Amino acid sequence: MSRAKVVIVGAGHAGTALAGLLRQGGHRGEIVLFGEEHDLPYQRPPLSKKFGGDDFEHALRPAEFFVEQAITWCPGDRVTSLDPARKRIALDGGRAVDYDFLVLATGARARRLTVPGARAEGVLGLRTLGDARRLRAMLAGARKLAIVGGGYIGLEVAAAAGVMGVEVTVLERESRLLARVASKPFAARMTEYHRSLNTTIVTGAQVVRFHERDGRVAGVGLADGQLLGCDLALVGVGAVPRDELAAAAGLTCDNGIVVGDPTRTSDASIFAIGDVTRRPVPGLAGGHRLESIPSATEQARQACAAILGTAPPRPEVPWFWSDQHELNLKIAGVVRPGPVVTVRARPSSPSFSVLHHENNMLTAIESVNAPADFMAARKFIATGQRIDPAILADPEKPLRAAAAA
Ligand SMILES: Cc1cc2nc3c(=O)[nH]c(=O)nc-3n(C[C@H](O)[C@H](O)[C@H](O)COP(=O)(O)OP(=O)(O)OC[C@H]3O[C@@H](n4cnc5c(N)ncnc54)[C@H](O)[C@@H]3O)c2cc1C
Repeated sequence: MSRAKVVIVGAGHAGTALAGLLRQGGHRGEIVLFGEEHDLPYQRPPLSKKFGGDDFEHALRPAEFFVEQAITWCPGDRVTSLDPARKRIALDGGRAVDYDFLVLATGARARRLTVPGARAEGVLGLRTLGDARRLRAMLAGARKLAIVGGGYIGLEVAAAAGVMGVEVTVLERESRLLARVASKPFAARMTEYHRSLNTTIVTGAQVVRFHERDGRVAGVGLADGQLLGCDLALVGVGAVPRDELAAAAGLTCDNGIVVGDPTRTSDASIFAIGDVTRRPVPGLAGGHRLESIPSATEQARQACAAILGTAPPRPEVPWFWSDQHELNLKIAGVVRPGPVVTVRARPSSPSFSVLHHENNMLTAIESVNAPADFMAARKFIATGQRIDPAILADPEKPLRAAAAA
């Protein structure tokens, strides 16, 4: 087994998973995991989903795990530069550390708005545990929450805050919710659902300023002149890959660190995994940024195999989930314009699936509270099994029965 020294930058989902996988795979060399955050590596999905108590704080691993597995976890240690020629990184404070393999797992940061008032107290973003603690503390005393951005994180927070009795308005710049990531029929049903929770949804809403009173947010101004009063604002307008270390070191970056083969960067000794990457995605030319736990975990497995020199894992169908109040959303495959879209729903039930298919093959599923549909569709997508489209729209027949004879 290799005794190479592996240095991982970023102790989030991807980096922490890789450290564990390397040991599990029998790696005997040193593993060093640098994370600039001070908390134990933690799960991000709960940060936006439930606001009762402190049940959003879930460590990925207990502190003993790192000791038992002889993984040198270095919290509060920020890597400031890379020197690929010397195979060396530098840390805040000037310390230098050498590596045989370097893995960049630096994730992404919440995109901020640059409009006037965006730095007022009560205008928040949501990416870290610190952000979530702040949001929760402020929500406890809030009456009106404005959420800028109708993507998954914005809608998760809208549902969770609405349940607490806070008056929620979602302001979406595009003409519909989930415009970048979901199909029209799926977004239409989600819009209907959120309205049924008493969330106000404003589309075509271009935020041009935050109004302040005594330094604290008091409203959101829109380009059409409307002013919406609020005492708390959450900005959920996407995430920006933290690829600046890689770019400064001359690695190929293009809105994310470009990886191929499948997680190696343009330097053979440096890998990149997780939200920071622009990665190959089956069916999409030119690579893509997939910001999800399943993608981060898949890439951790791929990097582990490459470092250990073992067989690469089989590529997975991209997928992710979201929880919005009592709805569990599961999406698999790549949602893109082109394929035929079939909605599979029962009038009396909140569960439904939107199936995307082309030439009698499924390309994607967007499902809500429909685990059997999701499982069957994911298998169809993975295997390329031909299907009978006539069965897709009939919720009385199990989706797995759509397999063409
Ligand atoms: C609120 C929220 C809800 C989400 N919900 C879901 C969900 O329901 N389902 C789903 O599939 N995905 C969800 N995601 C996305 C998912 O959390 C990410 O895809 C995942 O965290 C990516 O893992 P990562 O390791 O690439 O990045 P991260 O988890 O962001 O970890 C990167 C780490 O690197 C550290 N770092 C960065 N630069 C340096 C440096 N120079 N030196 C040292 N450390 C550094 C950062 O501080 C950070 O801790 C959610 C994300 C958020 C924010």
